[in-house]
Amino acid sequence: MTFAISVASRLGASKDMGNKDYSVRQLMELEACTNCQACADICPAVSAAGDGELSALFRMKGLKEIVKARTALFHRILRKKGLSPEEWKYFSDASFRCTLCGNCQEVCPVGIRLKDLWLSLRQDLVHSGFHPKKITLIKENLEESRNVFGEDNEERGDWVEDMRDEPEDGYIREQAEVVYFTGCTAAFFPIAQKIPIALAEIMDTSNVDFTLLGEEEWCCGFPMLGAGLMDIFQEFREHNIQAVREKGAGKIVFACPSCYQMWREYYRPGDIEIYHASQFLIDLVKKGRVPLKELNMTVTYHDPCDLGRGAHVYEEPREVIQAIPGITFVELPHTREECRCCGGGGNLEMVDAKLSAEIAKAKIEEILSTGAQAVVTSCQQCVRTMITYVRRNKISLEVLDITELIQKALKK
Ligand code: SF4
Ligand code: SF4
Repeated sequence: MTFAISVASRLGASKDMGNKDYSVRQLMELEACTNCQACADICPAVSAAGDGELSALFRMKGLKEIVKARTALFHRILRKKGLSPEEWKYFSDASFRCTLCGNCQEVCPVGIRLKDLWLSLRQDLVHSGFHPKKITLIKENLEESRNVFGEDNEERGDWVEDMRDEPEDGYIREQAEVVYFTGCTAAFFPIAQKIPIALAEIMDTSNVDFTLLGEEEWCCGFPMLGAGLMDIFQEFREHNIQAVREKGAGKIVFACPSCYQMWREYYRPGDIEIYHASQFLIDLVKKGRVPLKELNMTVTYHDPCDLGRGAHVYEEPREVIQAIPGITFVELPHTREECRCCGGGGNLEMVDAKLSAEIAKAKIEEILSTGAQAVVTSCQQCVRTMITYVRRNKISLEVLDITELIQKALKK
């Protein structure tokens, strides 16, 4: 891999731009990079594209030059001209061709919080007006429809109609102990709708008093974080917290690690307990509230980036899997903190679907090397990305969310 291209020569600077999207800590972190390349060696985008300019290292160098050149002193000394639109576009494209998997952050020997840096960089690129066209579409969808796909938000709970025992109230209840926040992908994508159906069926069997928010559920804000659109986030946060409080719920559960992470890190409501489905399920299982039958299957587990490296939830999904009688569990060669991304994160699919599929290919090959019949994960986006690849390439491998695995084992 070569980094011979001079980033400094590609990137000039614009005196109109400030460095306000970065914290002081982040500006200092730019100076801490030792050019060791560990982040480049581990990056799934670099491996899949064979392009070193998608690496954290390349991005660090570019960002350092931009930040320096924006300061008045450097601007005067270096007499840099403003960036050409082509130069900005080049750097922006490389920055958005990243799954935000956080693997680079995990291996950085000097502890630079690279994932946070990429989020700030995306915000900067949006503020600077150099972002992929798809980002504008995401923004319009969120503002007009309150979901990332631009669907009619009134249809957010329509997946309930596909249940075997569809409840009359559609799980929209005035008051409940628990709110199940489905998230945009599980609510609107047919491939992912099996997940809310499975979780609702399990909660029904376990007599959990829960409700959906229906059209009052708005996007959690994760796509805004990944797209550099956090300027519009606050309205969504306040709306969602209020909607949960109106149900009188003290707990909220997510099958989506990204929604879960947003609530943990950016909502922090204080009066509402926050659970990922794997945590909620293992609690129910341990209390004997989930009747399980034997399931003779060999399965492996893929740690979703946002649940694993993002939230450090590694044990609960494994405990849930191994609580099912008859299951043989095998680990992937790269697991837990080292788990390789499926290709579905960071809005990459919207920006570069081909690269996303290439990353998925490497993931599926790793899964097949274990001999497992099924890969289990805890994320609808991972399910969607891996199923899409497996179906397109006619690969004999079952892809299941952890809720679907429990649903399979449920004694009816
Ligand atoms: S977050 Fe993942 S895809 Fe993005 S630069 Fe880091 S390792 Fe590469
Ligand atoms: S791993 Fe950290 S120190 Fe090494 S090149 Fe990447 S950002 Fe720099």
